[in-house]
Amino acid sequence: MLALRPHHLLCLRYYRGKGYSAAFCANMNAICRRLHDRPDTVIQLHCGADSICRACPHLRQDGLCETQEKTADLDRRVLAELALPANARLRWEAFSRFPLQAALCSGCSWQDFCLSIEKENALSGEKT
Ligand code: SF4
Repeated sequence: MLALRPHHLLCLRYYRGKGYSAAFCANMNAICRRLHDRPDTVIQLHCGADSICRACPHLRQDGLCETQEKTADLDRRVLAELALPANARLRWEAFSRFPLQAALCSGCSWQDFCLSIEKENALSGEKT
């Protein structure tokens, strides 16, 4: 089982090896590999520090994100879009099929990057 903040479903979808630090990217790479190899991995949604945050330089000593207000808002938006409760549990293969798009992430500093990937994929006919 893997705990994920709801908005990290989107971060994983658009992740292309860029991140906040080398340790953050190494952890993201490992998580992406795991989900790719085991799409039946159970994901437990969790509106707090998760498997991705634990290697992030923006995770504070008290266990909160440095941009907690913004990230909590992103979590709320994703949950509303998915119409799921905050503690939903599903297999990764089911989550990865939800039609979430980067337009949902206004305010995130990575949004332009994710939108550019979405655009490239649309041009090449690939699914994001
Ligand atoms: S600590 Fe904050 S910035 Fe870092 S991965 Fe978690 S939610 Fe994102």
